[in-house]
Amino acid sequence: MEGAGLPGKDRMIRVTRKVEFSAAHFYHNPNFSADENRRVFGKCNNPHGHGHNYVLEVTIAGEPDPTTGMVLDLKELKDILETEVMERMDHRHLNYEVPELTGQIPTCENIAAVIWKLLEPKIKSGKLDRVRLYESPELFVDVNAGNGARA
Ligand SMILES: [Zn+2]
Repeated sequence: MEGAGLPGKDRMIRVTRKVEFSAAHFYHNPNFSADENRRVFGKCNNPHGHGHNYVLEVTIAGEPDPTTGMVLDLKELKDILETEVMERMDHRHLNYEVPELTGQIPTCENIAAVIWKLLEPKIKSGKLDRVRLYESPELFVDVNAGNGARA
């Protein structure tokens, strides 16, 4: 009867927390000519930047602690997201103000990878399973445990 009533043969449960932040960016590769930058990045190359309301979903996988019924302390996760993501990125210009993105084009892909690297070592109970970052309601990027994300 082990695991009866729970999906799967292990007791892995996934918990997701969502936060939203606003930030500005533009796309520019210093190794491209001005023409190449315009061709590859289009209007996203405008050096004055533009803004997005990003929506971040962070999923932690683990077994619920039998004494609390929780995979992890949700208040603690909220605090981690506040410190690692909101304080770093909310109302920032991602090209200039986030040291972890220095030297990278701040695409949704690169931002999500940076968020993974920031969060992964901070999750002490359960494991970081997925970082999903929406740049708009129509576009999101996933970084998953096991698809190459490394701290
Ligand atoms: Zn953009």
